[in-house]
Amino acid sequence: MIRFEHVTKGYPDGTVAVDDLSFEVAEGELVTLVGPSGCGKTTTMKMVNRLIEPTSGRILLDGEDISTLDPVALRRRIGYVIQQVGLFPHKTVLENTATVPHLLGWPRRKARERAAELLDLVGLDPATHGERYPDQLSGGQRQRVGVARALAADPPVLLMDEPFGAVDPVVREHLQSEFLRLQQQVRKTILFVTHDIEEAVRLGDRIAVYGSGRIEQFDTPATVLGAP
Ligand code: ADP
Ligand code: ADP
Repeated sequence: MIRFEHVTKGYPDGTVAVDDLSFEVAEGELVTLVGPSGCGKTTTMKMVNRLIEPTSGRILLDGEDISTLDPVALRRRIGYVIQQVGLFPHKTVLENTATVPHLLGWPRRKARERAAELLDLVGLDPATHGERYPDQLSGGQRQRVGVARALAADPPVLLMDEPFGAVDPVVREHLQSEFLRLQQQVRKTILFVTHDIEEAVRLGDRIAVYGSGRIEQFDTPATVLGAP
């Protein structure tokens, strides 16, 4: 589904953020990328939706070289959730969630129905939470809205960059278990960045353990934990 072939990314200042990366993620698989800050996890993710371009190597999505795809069309196939989900402050939660269906040209009513369905899917009540504004939600609830919004166009791929990184540990655990349940229903192909090994182990079908610019190990949680 997603395949990296010898992908290297150097920034203009000489930093080599990822160095000759090759790996494959299967359809419906959730791979966690774990490692210390600055080891190239975010760079890896941003190349998948062409926010940045590799210096060399190529990335295939369903067998297609993504550098040949129109970035806008590509991003419709890929949902993106980041640590500080940016919601429109003057739109209600329901309106925020309906943004993508709306942009895709869905009729207003259908877009709102879809948004309500998505909020329900992530454990928010469309009738109450949906009518609030983002600053009337807790941090954990805002992240759920971010997940709902990323799912709106029903993309086969999700990129999640520390989506639960900014919420407190109790809420984080709750979000993790709900997210696992959600993934069992929706079965997306997911790259999930975290610097928390426990989170990586709990969520990942497989784990990519990053060292500086490289993946040092790419295996199931059991194997990664069992490694010396
Ligand atoms: P991580 O997500 O693992 O924290 P990043 O992919 O953000 O790591 O960064 C990898 C390396 O690339 C770091 O050394 C970082 O400082 C560097 N880097 C990231 N973005 C840029 C940029 N725009 N220009 C120069 N260096 C960058
Ligand atoms: P969480 O454990 O999900 O992070 P919080 O403890 O932050 O939740 O918030 C608890 C409840 O208070 C939530 O149901 C949230 O909707 C509500 N809440 C938080 N901030 C506000 C606000 N500014 N206005 C109205 N309700 C709020």
